[in-house]
Amino acid sequence: NTPLHELDPDVAATVDAELRRQQSTLEMIASENFAPVAVMEAQGSVLTNKYAEGYPGRRYYGGCEHVDVAEQIAIDRIKDLFGAEYANVQPHSGASANQAALFAMAQPGDTILGLDLAHGGHLTHGMRLNFSGKQFNVVAYHVDEAGLVDMAEVERLAKEHRPKVIIAGWSAYPRQLDFAEFRRIADEVEAYLWVDMAHFAGLVAAGLHPNPVAYADVVTSTTHKTLGGPRGGVILAKKEFAKKLNSSVFPGFQGGPLEHVIAAKAVSFKVAASEEFKERQQRTLDGARILAERLVQDDVTAHGVSVLSGGTDVHLVLVDLRNSELDGQQAEDRLHEVGITVNRNAVPNDPRPPMVTSGLRIGTPALATRGFGAEDFTEVADIIAEALKPGYDEDKAAALKARVTALADKHPLYPGLK
Ligand code: PLP
Repeated sequence: NTPLHELDPDVAATVDAELRRQQSTLEMIASENFAPVAVMEAQGSVLTNKYAEGYPGRRYYGGCEHVDVAEQIAIDRIKDLFGAEYANVQPHSGASANQAALFAMAQPGDTILGLDLAHGGHLTHGMRLNFSGKQFNVVAYHVDEAGLVDMAEVERLAKEHRPKVIIAGWSAYPRQLDFAEFRRIADEVEAYLWVDMAHFAGLVAAGLHPNPVAYADVVTSTTHKTLGGPRGGVILAKKEFAKKLNSSVFPGFQGGPLEHVIAAKAVSFKVAASEEFKERQQRTLDGARILAERLVQDDVTAHGVSVLSGGTDVHLVLVDLRNSELDGQQAEDRLHEVGITVNRNAVPNDPRPPMVTSGLRIGTPALATRGFGAEDFTEVADIIAEALKPGYDEDKAAALKARVTALADKHPLYPGLK
């Protein structure tokens, strides 16, 4: 029972340093969030010790009476949260959920139609080095000149290639998808519709984004992005997919479920059903809108900085640096230097190489969880705009960093943790 600091000071030091990093900087990676202490408590619990292959009430191990309860609570809560007929809370991650879901709907060699990675899609939607790209015949749709998913292209490609599965979902896209239109096209070509709502699930739970559950055959998600829970995945679906999906997750791709993570998921689903969560998601959206508005003002666009699609309806903004002297890597480094963490991101038809890119993806979920409101997001937006303008030097960097520190101090993160 030796505590971590005594047993392994090396690892303890990295945990301490990471806590200090999270507390002292502004986290604006769009896929990140801060899990509540109660979620981390469940995740760090004795449930990590339990083997529980199978599903609640049908396990291949004894002693599952308590983890059965936790897993059933997680299932019931997420079904309620999204109005789903079926839920599987066992996928270890978003990518695992997607793999199990895809193999439940299609066979290797079948055609799938998803958003191109370079236009905002995810690796698991058909990238050539991913299982999806290696084992399936991938056809990709794109965004148009205005930065919006080109539904005419989706329909044309669907009719031409007759995919088994159409994927609606994204990792870097600032607008809402038209699920009804995706459903219509899927019906027309007799394809399954799979929505990957990993990024925007929290907005859906709060009623601030259309819910794909009624339209899709299968919906997958992560639990750690806007949803704000532990790192993990889930699958929702219509009842008729239950058997196929259950056996695709276990024994298809996974062995023992992570019951400690599942218990933590259950806690986060309870939080996601609360009024406080709804209010937080509203601040997330407001923050992204403020950021986009600030970055399309003349004093910023004059320096070649703009925002893809001209704004945002979700929790992130895609900054377009194609006309800027700064590339994505330099912009990411600059913001890192002043204490703001973002990731560089390729923009459609990016002229720069993938390791450099001409864009930034900036998200507001983590800061909203930290308590940021409109005034704070305006200050963050101004700091980012200043950092991306010419005339950035050591003095300016120091001044911007001081403003970042003031915001971090105003909204302490995990004040009870040391
Ligand atoms: N699906 C989408 C749309 C994502 O953006 C991501 C993560 O970036 C995933 C799936 C994969 O999630 P994970 O990193 O948990 O495997």
